Amino acid sequence: MITDENIDEVITRVKKVIGNVDLVLPVEDVRDDPFKVLVATLLSARTKDEITHPVLPKLFSRVHGPKDLVRLDVKELERLIYPVGFYRTKAKHLKRLGEVLTEKYGGRVPDSLDELITLPGVGRKTANLVLVLAHDKPGICVDTHVHRIFNRWGYLSTRTPEETERVLRERLPERYWKDINRLLVLFGRSMCKPVNPRCSTCPLNRWCLYGGKRLIREWYKLLWDQFGPQNWWPVSCERGDPRYEIIVGAVLTQNTAWKNVERALEGLCENGLLEPHRLLREDPVVVKRLIRPAGYYNQKYERLLEVSRWYLERSSDRVDMRDELLGIKGIGPETADSILLYGFDVPVFVVDAYTVRLLERHGFITRNEKEVWFMGEMVKGKIDLYHRIQEMFHLTYSDLSERERVKVFKEYHALIVELGKRYCKSRDPMCEECPLGFDIHE
Ligand code: SF4
Repeated sequence: MITDENIDEVITRVKKVIGNVDLVLPVEDVRDDPFKVLVATLLSARTKDEITHPVLPKLFSRVHGPKDLVRLDVKELERLIYPVGFYRTKAKHLKRLGEVLTEKYGGRVPDSLDELITLPGVGRKTANLVLVLAHDKPGICVDTHVHRIFNRWGYLSTRTPEETERVLRERLPERYWKDINRLLVLFGRSMCKPVNPRCSTCPLNRWCLYGGKRLIREWYKLLWDQFGPQNWWPVSCERGDPRYEIIVGAVLTQNTAWKNVERALEGLCENGLLEPHRLLREDPVVVKRLIRPAGYYNQKYERLLEVSRWYLERSSDRVDMRDELLGIKGIGPETADSILLYGFDVPVFVVDAYTVRLLERHGFITRNEKEVWFMGEMVKGKIDLYHRIQEMFHLTYSDLSERERVKVFKEYHALIVELGKRYCKSRDPMCEECPLGFDIHE
């Protein structure tokens, strides 16, 4: 995610994408005259630069200051500024602008945002641009590029450019204010286009919320096409409680391969112990012998007792259920979420070692000696990393209904496990044959 923490690096990367290309603004030839900057900026609103450019010399050969705008009639102004967009409205604004500047400001262009936005035809975007270009004062000109890109990054979540400007004024370091419009207009034209942004080649694609979400959705499709439905969680005991079997399996699978868990589950099933009351009453020696194939049987036996009691007494609220599970010794977020997702159809994404490995190899997670970063943001501790990754998957599918999310999360977790076993192995990963493509991120 792009945050206050990594915004410096982000801007550096944006500058690298832009290279030596610069933005030629319609006001470039008149920058030493605040009045002409204001008029040129006003005319360029919702008009392409190639249309505004030729109009300016024509207009400024007749208009040198506010009094000239007062002297000319609206029809004459319309002729002078045609064919800029909304030329009739803009001609009326120019006429009125000349009057206000003459009467109220003695022919001077004010240099505060509050005053500028009261001028005819001047909105916040124009006012900020005039502040920067005419008065060399800090302003944040939020146009469609700036609004779109900051929202795609996940740096903010706003609905209007005005809201974006307000948030940026609070958070964006002032040293970037004057230049941010130029940078993001150029970045938005070449890379982060309004339609079909070039995320696959973008140097921010492992940090940007939109780019990350897009990749996660693409991966799901590729994995599904390759492996097909996995239909997890496997339940096979006809004599037991299926939900309880999932819970027992989730506990037993900690630190061991599933084939060992299957042997333990078979033994429990044959002895009618995949039912919580029966397991709680059974002789500990018998239960430990049966679960022994899954390893750490003493510890796992204690966990099974606790989780069985929880199952019988659990709360009906899902949030409370997760807290209760996490309160049981030895039950971490992966086990708790496996139980909730597969046992209770709660839409929570399960993050396991395969998921972390996959994201690390594709550049979402970076590590140095002391720190772990996820999507360019420093995270502290294992649990924190777990929840950040989980949140990313939750955000990616936030547009789906709860039922659809449950279905996707069940399959996605199983598909990642399949990928990890077959291709993304801890040693000697088979990158060239991987269904996700060979694009290990540097
Ligand atoms: S990853 Fe895509 S959406 Fe994000 S900044 Fe790059 S081009 Fe824009």
